[in-house]
Amino acid sequence: MIEEFADADGPGQHEAFQRWRADNPTGYVINCRTEAEGMLHLSPCGHYGDTDLGPEAWGNLTRHRKVCSTSQTALLDWARGRSMAIQMCSSCKPT
Ligand SMILES: [Zn+2]
Repeated sequence: MIEEFADADGPGQHEAFQRWRADNPTGYVINCRTEAEGMLHLSPCGHYGDTDLGPEAWGNLTRHRKVCSTSQTALLDWARGRSMAIQMCSSCKPT
């Protein structure tokens, strides 16, 4: 199952994304930097701070769309279906 969080989809997306991270500590997240380029992270990656981090610190985490799943394979399939190139985060090393 894949869930997407993006400011473009309406209010409350930052909070929903943080809730998903808290609920899925072993999940994976694609940060969509552009339509053609994304980076795969582990859900707890330090790039996103603690899951209780609010938007006041750095702004909404969902300014760039976040695509989340507990299945890395499902996320990579999702990206392949959109011809999105995926880099692995060198900080949390999802592979
Ligand atoms: Zn990361």
